[in-house]
Amino acid sequence: MERSYVIKPLLNEAYPMISHGKGIYLYDTDGKAYIDASSGAVTASIGHGISEVIEAMNEQANQVSFVYRSQFTSKAVEDLAFELNKLIDADEDYHTFFVNSGSEATETAMKIAIQHFQEKGQHQKNKVISRWTSYHGITLGALSLSGHKKRRERFVPLLHDYPVAPPPSCYRCPFNESFPGCQLKCADELNVVIEKMGAEHIAAFIAEPIIGAAGGAIVPPRGYYERIKEICEKHEILLIADEVMTGLGRTGEALGMDHWKVKPDILALGKGLSAGYTPLAATMCSESVLEPIKNGSNFIMSGHTFSANPQSAATALAVLYYLKKHGLVQKSKTNGAYLKRQLKTLFNQFDFIGDVRGLGMMVGIEFVRNRASKDPFPSPTFLTNKLVKKAQENGLLIYPASTARPQGDGDAVIIAPPLISTKEEVDQIVELLKKTLKEIQAELN
Ligand code: PMP
Repeated sequence: MERSYVIKPLLNEAYPMISHGKGIYLYDTDGKAYIDASSGAVTASIGHGISEVIEAMNEQANQVSFVYRSQFTSKAVEDLAFELNKLIDADEDYHTFFVNSGSEATETAMKIAIQHFQEKGQHQKNKVISRWTSYHGITLGALSLSGHKKRRERFVPLLHDYPVAPPPSCYRCPFNESFPGCQLKCADELNVVIEKMGAEHIAAFIAEPIIGAAGGAIVPPRGYYERIKEICEKHEILLIADEVMTGLGRTGEALGMDHWKVKPDILALGKGLSAGYTPLAATMCSESVLEPIKNGSNFIMSGHTFSANPQSAATALAVLYYLKKHGLVQKSKTNGAYLKRQLKTLFNQFDFIGDVRGLGMMVGIEFVRNRASKDPFPSPTFLTNKLVKKAQENGLLIYPASTARPQGDGDAVIIAPPLISTKEEVDQIVELLKKTLKEIQAELN
């Protein structure tokens, strides 16, 4: 290829050029096919080249693509917010503030939480607690909330303190205990942290329902979120669910939190919301979170030029209709359970697999040098990088992740194919992964 002027993730690396995508496959300009078992960045959740979505995009583009949110609303935006409220299915209504990326969505969530208390005269309640294994985004506010050591380390002086609450990881329990004997110490620790800091200083607690990039699809133990919700309510602290990765059916429920029937006060959506067809993300909050702002300044102190543009809203609406029409949330649950079962069979064949976990079409595999001690490979992300690269060479795309080790290192990947994947396609994914793991095993030996 000729000289490139694009700054890519690895500056000195050549990247294959994609020609087109169809269903769960991507094709590069050399004619090579890839199974998109990561949905890109856990994003292309209904697959590529879906004609209903493309038609809706065209239709909207023929009407109007952009209007400025301070001047106009549009039918597409109103309809999308209406559908999202239905999706939450709570006793009270949820309202949506549209943004363009998951980072903006979590950062806006933090700002809405702080503003909620300001408008009630509780100006000191302005800190947000998060967990030390977490990823909420790359902009400085969202990164401040994130317990992702590698992504933070260069910018530490610009960030808030490191997140303080422990992750609910049973595989790497921060207290070296096991469930249920632990009695959910990881949840109760939030109470300890709040009491130490003083609830009068804390606006919210933010959590990914299932920890993604930072932890490799960590599912909390039973009862964890119910306990977390109780603790938040006791201290008048808002619960923010970062559903950027887990939302819109990815884990086999409409929202990740639905697995525990816990309603967050605020939530962030992204990725699967527009399934990658256009950039779009959203922050949603309950009527009671919004009320003091409505009755106070009547203005959310945030927003972006592209917020609430009709083009992205029409796209996301078409994605949402497609999810419903094809029962993809349920399909994610059943075929995701099948995916996890098949991946678990690899556990007996490869002794460097430490754990297989996840829900729906979000399954994580953690790798260890020694299964008994759970020690990681000596250099951080050594195995993940090798595996992701080799898999891509073999025509399989998988998503790199970190682990819940307190040091913030370790090797994990997430297998997150589009929710449309059939059982036969899941079999293909598992076969290609097996082939790749065998190659890795040969190298390790
Ligand atoms: N929150 C979570 C849970 C995520 O997984 C991500 C992206 N990996 C983000 C926030 C940030 O989203 P974006 O990359 O769209 O800014």
